[in-house]
Parts: sequence; C-alpha cells; structure tokens
Amino acid sequence: MKVILQNLTMKFPSRDRKKHQDVVAVNDFSFEIPDGKLIGLLGPSGCGKSTTLNLISGLLKPTGGRIFFGEDDVTDLPPEHRGIGLVFQNYALYPHLTVRQNILFPLENLKGKDRLTKAQMQEKADAAARLVQIDALMDRRPGELSGGQQQRVAIARALVKMPRVLLLDEPLSNLDARLRLQTREEIRRIQRETGITTIFVTHDQEEAMSISDMIVVMKEGIVQQIGRPQEVYDNPRNLFVAKFLGTPPINVFEGQVREGKLYVGQEAVLDLALGKENLPKEVYVGVRPEGFLIREDGPFGCELSGVEVMGRDISVVSTHKASLNPAVRAIVSAESGPLAAGGQVRFSLKPGKVFLFRKDTEERIL
Ligand code: ADP
Ligand code: MG
Repeated sequence: MKVILQNLTMKFPSRDRKKHQDVVAVNDFSFEIPDGKLIGLLGPSGCGKSTTLNLISGLLKPTGGRIFFGEDDVTDLPPEHRGIGLVFQNYALYPHLTVRQNILFPLENLKGKDRLTKAQMQEKADAAARLVQIDALMDRRPGELSGGQQQRVAIARALVKMPRVLLLDEPLSNLDARLRLQTREEIRRIQRETGITTIFVTHDQEEAMSISDMIVVMKEGIVQQIGRPQEVYDNPRNLFVAKFLGTPPINVFEGQVREGKLYVGQEAVLDLALGKENLPKEVYVGVRPEGFLIREDGPFGCELSGVEVMGRDISVVSTHKASLNPAVRAIVSAESGPLAAGGQVRFSLKPGKVFLFRKDTEERIL
C-alpha cells in the first residue's frame, strides 16, 4: 500500500503561557512512500517523528494537509478503520492475558462482515506467531517473557490483521544492545516476507541506515532529506544531515577557499576542481573518518593524541586548531604503518569524502 503525505502539518498550542507561538511539530511534510518498502523516519528527540507517525495512524488529526493510503483519503478516518498495525517502544501487552490471547485480541473485536470463526482466528494467530518465531511461547504471560520476546508478541499482534501499513515507534529502544541488533534484523525479514509498507521511527541513525530502503531525516518538524541510506550518507544536503549520519561522526573544520584550493588553518589540504569560482571564501569543511589517508608527506597535519586498534582498521585520534569537534577521528587501514603517539600525523584527503558547507545556511556546496 502506497502512503502519500501531502503538506502534512501539525501545530500544537504552546504550553508556555508567555510565548503564544504554536509548536510546529510537523511542518509541511510531503512525501510518497512507495508500496512495500521500509521507511526509516530518523531525527533527534523532539523533531516530530512520533507526531508524524500518530498522524499516519489517525491517533492525531493534522492541522493541515492530507494523508492517502493508495487512492483512499484517510485523513478523516479513525485509526480502527485505516488498516494499520502499531508497535510502540513499551510493548503495551495485556499482562493478564497469555501470548495467544494477546495476539487474538484484535481479531476478537472485529464486527459485522469482518467477523471470523474461532478456527479462523486461531489460524491467523498461529501464522503471526510463526512469523515472529514465538509459536513455542503461546501459553505464557508477558511477565514470563524477555523484553525481546515481548516485543515480538507486540509485532505479531500488530500483524495479525494483515494491516495495510505497519507503524513502529522506536520499537527497539527498550532492548539491550545485542537483542536490538537481532530484533532489527527480524523486523527487516518480517517486512520482506509480508511486503507490508512499514514506517520505522528511530533516533538511532545506525539502526535506520541498516534496515531501511529509504530514510527520512527530520529536524524541528522539517524534513531535511529523503533518500536511500547510502545516498544520503554520501550526499548530505546540509551540515545537520552530514553530522547526524555516521559513526564515528563526520569531522568538521573551519576552512577557507583561496585560488582553487581548500585551506584548513595554514595548509592547503585539497585542490578544488576548476569552475568553482563562486565558492564563498569561508566554509565549513566536513571530512568523513574514512576520508583520511596517512601519508608522511600529506598536506594535512594534525596533532596526534592516540591510536585505537579496532581489528582490521585503526582509529587515529588527533586534534586540530580549526576543528569544531574536540577530537579529529580518522579510520584508516591497520596496514597504514606504525604511528607513535604524540607529535604530528599527516594525512591526505579522499575528495569524495570531503564536503563543503556554507557558513550562513549550512547548506552543502556542490
Ligand atoms: P519525537 O518523536 O521526534 O521525539 P514528537 O513528535 O514527540 O518528537 O514531538 C515533536 C514536538 O511536538 C516536540 O516539540 C514536542 O514537545 C511537541 N509535542 C508533541 N506532542 C505534543 C502535544 N500533545 N502537545 C503539545 N506539544 C506536543
Ligand atoms: Mg517519539
């Protein structure tokens, strides 16, 4: 099911009595979510992710704009008539019901022509349980399950009616690191198997990047960029997106453009291609950690603070006067040669991993 958001806007009245300005939680969001894809809705806390999801689910009514599921305008439809499955961070299972009863619950409330026989209901509950691999736990109560298992039950319950759209709001945030990894792979597999259009909300860029067909990066209610994870990582539209994606994060420096060269501090660190005469003189320079190469005669010198071995790669930690991050982090191959701590380390830069941004708007300069 294709989902279309058309100029979707949600304003909340301000809670602050002195400031009468509304909080614009979602600001003019337009996007067509392709059928059968998994979309990661990504951004820092408070940027409007849950509000967006609640608008799509119908738990909230927008102050502006329309929502379509396929050809259906669902903007004024209550949640129970939209055909959605919802999963939240806190599994929200009924503690006094067994796993089976929890999964059956949405089916038992079907009315009229949608009513199912007992046997049909059991069959659907069993299928949903198998899909999330909890079919062996059907007679337990939620209190007798781990967090990961409880979240699987919640997913099974959301899937049992075969929703048109599956909406997940930070579903992994209550799980420990290992379960989080495992469960996100599960969600990806389940989404592929069912082909249900899925919107997955998270503040964790790595999580979103690893499982999404497309990511939507939001900041303060406004969509910053939409695209395939790798595309957005390789071509961030602005400094915010560049900084939000990637671990370790991108290194940012104050830079100057003079005579076709990029300067950081006193050093010309990169030749800029010709035809860029209109570049502003002062820029922010973003360098991905994997954009450094250790070269004795490299143009870019930093003060070495230490080296962290990570197996195949090493992380070279250094400082630079023009760096906006407290430490400059370079990820280089372990074969880069020995590096004594202290003193200078010299780099050359991979041009494809270096981005320039305007200082005023923080937009990327191509
Ligand atoms: P996220 O899920 O990305 O953390 P939310 O969508 O929950 O962000 O919130 C976005 C903004 O809207 C925040 O500034 C939040 O304080 C505000 N907000 C959310 N819900 C309400 C509400 N019911 N009333 C007033 N403001 C709200
Ligand atoms: Mg939220």
